[in-house]
Amino acid sequence: MARNNTLKLKFDSARKYAPAPESRSAAKIKDQYELFINGKFEKPLGKKYFDTINPATEEKLSRIAEANEADVDKAVKAARSAFGVWSKMVPKERGKYIFRIARMVQERARELAIVETLDGGKPIRESRDFDIPVVGNHFFYYAGWADKLEYAFPNRNVQPLGVAGQIIPWNFPLLMAAWKIAPALATGNTVVLKPAETTPLTALLLAEIIQEADLPPGVVNIITGAGATGAAIVNHPDINKIAFTGSTDVGKIIQRAIAGTGKKATLELGGKAANIIFDDAPIDQAVEGVINGIFFNQGHVCCAGSRLYVQESVYKEVVRKLKDRLETLIVGDPMDKNTDIGAINSKQQLDQINKYLKIGVKEGAEMYQSSVDLPKKGFFCRPTIFTNVAQSNRISQEEIFGPVLTIQTFRTDDEVIEKANNTPYGLSAGVWTDKGSKIFNMTIKLRAGVVWANTFNQFDPTSPFGGYKESGYGREGGLHGLGAYVTLSNVV
Ligand code: NAP
Ligand code: MG
Repeated sequence: MARNNTLKLKFDSARKYAPAPESRSAAKIKDQYELFINGKFEKPLGKKYFDTINPATEEKLSRIAEANEADVDKAVKAARSAFGVWSKMVPKERGKYIFRIARMVQERARELAIVETLDGGKPIRESRDFDIPVVGNHFFYYAGWADKLEYAFPNRNVQPLGVAGQIIPWNFPLLMAAWKIAPALATGNTVVLKPAETTPLTALLLAEIIQEADLPPGVVNIITGAGATGAAIVNHPDINKIAFTGSTDVGKIIQRAIAGTGKKATLELGGKAANIIFDDAPIDQAVEGVINGIFFNQGHVCCAGSRLYVQESVYKEVVRKLKDRLETLIVGDPMDKNTDIGAINSKQQLDQINKYLKIGVKEGAEMYQSSVDLPKKGFFCRPTIFTNVAQSNRISQEEIFGPVLTIQTFRTDDEVIEKANNTPYGLSAGVWTDKGSKIFNMTIKLRAGVVWANTFNQFDPTSPFGGYKESGYGREGGLHGLGAYVTLSNVV
C-alpha cells in the first residue's frame, strides 16, 4: 500500500508564524565536485566546470565538473567492464550492496534533505518527509528483488540488458536517481547516470555513498553536465538502454536519436493531469487534495493536478474555498520548516511560468493569485488560479510546470472524461467522489498511467508509474520497473 505522503500544508491565515529554519551546517557542501567514474572522483577531461546555485538566494553553492564526450566514453567503458562482474555476481550479493546503499541513505537522510532543498529550492519539509525517505524505500524495495527474479519472471531465462544510460530532471533529483539506479542494479545492469544541471549535488552525494558502500568500480558512474552530456550518453554506441525522465521535447529528440540502433528505452515525460471534483465529493477534502495536487514541489511535478474540473453545482463553493486556502499558503524560504511553497528551480523555469501567466491572461482567462509577499532575492512565484478557461487554451493544453492551476466546469461524466482526456498527455488523473461506481467508471475511461481516487500524489516503490500518449512509455516502479531492465527468453 502507498504510504500517505500527502503534502501537509500549514494553516495560518494571518501568516504570522515563528520562523523555524533548518540548520544549514548539518550539510557540508564541497567547493568543487568531480565526475564519479570507475569508482573514483575524476577531473573532467575538458577541464570545464559550471556552477550550481541555490535558487532561493541565487548564491553559488558549488562548482561542478562538466563531462564531455570523452568523459562519457570513459564512463561507458567503465560500466561495460564492470558489467561482466556485476551481472555474474551471485544475486544475493548484489542485493546486499543495494541494501547497503539504502541504509547509508537513511543514515545521511538529514544531510541529503538539506542539500536537496538548497540545490533545488523545494521546502525542507518535503525533502525531509517525502523525497529522501522514498529514496531509501526504493533501494530497500529493489534490494529485495535482486535474488528473487525467478519469481518475477517464472519459467523464463532472464538476462540484464547491459549498460544503462540514465538521464534525470531537476524536480525530484535524488528520487529520480533512485528510481533509475535501484532496479537497474537489482537486475544486473551497470549504469551511467546524469543528473540535471541545476540540481547535481545529491546525485554526487549518492556517488560518495556508492563509493563507501564499496560497489565494484564502474557499476555506477555519475557524470555531471548539461544537455550535451545527456546527448553524448544517448548517442554512445555501447549503451544498451536509455532511461530518461524529462520533457516531452527532449524525449522526442531521444526517440529520433536511438531509432534503428536497437537501444531499449523507457521515457517518463511531461503531463497535464486532470483533477475532477464531482458534486457528491467531500468538498473540503477535495479542495485540500487539489491544493496538494498542484502546489506540492511548487508544481514542478510531472503528474501535478494542473487542470481542475468541477461539477457545475459545486463550482462556486470550490473556487471560493480554493481562493481562501491560497491565502494561507506560506511561500518563501525553502529551509524554513513552515514553508509550503519554496523557490522555483531556476530563473529559466520562472520565466517559463511567467510567460504562461501572460498567455493565460491574453487568452481571456481570469487570473487570481495569493497576495503573499515574495522574497526580494531568489526565484519565487505566487500560487495562481485561472478561471474562465477554455479547453483549447494553451494554459489548459501545455505543461506549465509551476504553481498554476486552471479550473473548468462540467455537467456529465461523459463530458468530463472527454475534457480530461483531451490533451497530448496521459500521465495521471485524480477523481473526487463519494461513489465507488463513479471511481470505477472513471478509472477505466481516463487515459492516464495512474488514477488517484480521493487522494493525489501518492508514490510508492511497489507501484508502476508511467504515461500514455506523449507522457512517454514504459513503467518504473514495482515489478514493471524490473521488466524495463531485462530481456526474457522463452525456453521450450
Ligand atoms: P529536460 O529539459 O527534458 O531535461 C531532462 C534531462 O535531460 C536533464 O538532465 C537535461 O540536462 C537532459 N537533456 C537536455 N537535453 C538533452 C538532450 N538533447 N539529450 C539528452 N539529454 C538531454 O526536462 P527538465 O526541464 O529537466 O524537467 C522537466 C520535465 O520533466 C517536465 O516536462 C516534466 O513533466 C518531466 N518529468 C517527467 C516525469 C515522469 O516521470 N514522467 C518526472 C519528472 C519530470 P540539463 O538539465 O542539464 O540541461
Ligand atoms: Mg542548484
